[in-house]
Amino acid sequence: NNLIEIKHVSKVYDNGVVGLKDINLTVKKGEFLVIVGLSGAGKSTLLRSINRLNDISSGDILINGVSIQKSSGKKLRVMRRDLAMIFQNFNLVKRASVKRNVLSGLVGYYGIFKSTFGLWKKSDIQEAVKSLQRVNLAEKFYDRADALSGGQQQRVAIARALMQKPKIMLADEPTASLDPATSSLVMDDLKSLNENLGITVVANLHNEQLALEYATRIVGLRGGKLVFDKEASLVTEKD
Ligand code: ADP
Ligand code: ADP
Repeated sequence: NNLIEIKHVSKVYDNGVVGLKDINLTVKKGEFLVIVGLSGAGKSTLLRSINRLNDISSGDILINGVSIQKSSGKKLRVMRRDLAMIFQNFNLVKRASVKRNVLSGLVGYYGIFKSTFGLWKKSDIQEAVKSLQRVNLAEKFYDRADALSGGQQQRVAIARALMQKPKIMLADEPTASLDPATSSLVMDDLKSLNENLGITVVANLHNEQLALEYATRIVGLRGGKLVFDKEASLVTEKD
């Protein structure tokens, strides 16, 4: 049940900036792992390496025992279906409906084809409504994405991510542009899909209070290095 294995991973950007230094980390199925650290610590670089939005310079990353770093083409595309991602800025198509945004999360050749031409089947629409119900936004189905609040937009992004039926949800500063009350709603949704759907969550947060509240395990990065790795209940102020 080692879902993600990060082995001796280092990353040096083309301009010589060191992003990550010899990171070793194993994530088990069902964990809610939060990565904390100051801006520039390497959190985004690490998260983006897991689904290979970033290439790493050395080391290896295994998803379910298979190296994503050494995979390419169709094999990489299929591996990425297990890995959904949400971002600080939601990345919705603002002028499109919530419906269209959520349905754009369908993956695979037919998924992309259907989304391009709007040729969804009734079962796709039902799936989209179900995903939106999981984030308690079913009543917004026909609204335009940019008519929603920031927190609601992030929850639409979660619903979209659910359409690919992921095993892992990567969340890169999902609450950084939200106020505290709204942040909790987004974190509640992530917690619910972790607990109810068994989706493993790996989230970057610079808000340590939220990390303590939601994580089962907290990892700290500083200057590209892993500086602590603890059960959430054991993390102290000093860390
Ligand atoms: P965090 O997410 O913790 O804020 P990042 O992973 O974004 O940290 O950044 C880690 C380090 O890598 C920082 O010094 C940052 O400036 C640098 N960095 C991030 N992205 C790039 C990039 N595309 N090119 C060069 N340096 C980068
Ligand atoms: P965050 O800290 O939330 O990761 P940043 O503001 O550091 O975001 O980075 C925003 C974007 O700029 C990212 O795509 C990142 O990869 C890139 N970036 C960050 N630092 C550098 C850098 N020193 N050189 C080039 N690109 C960078």
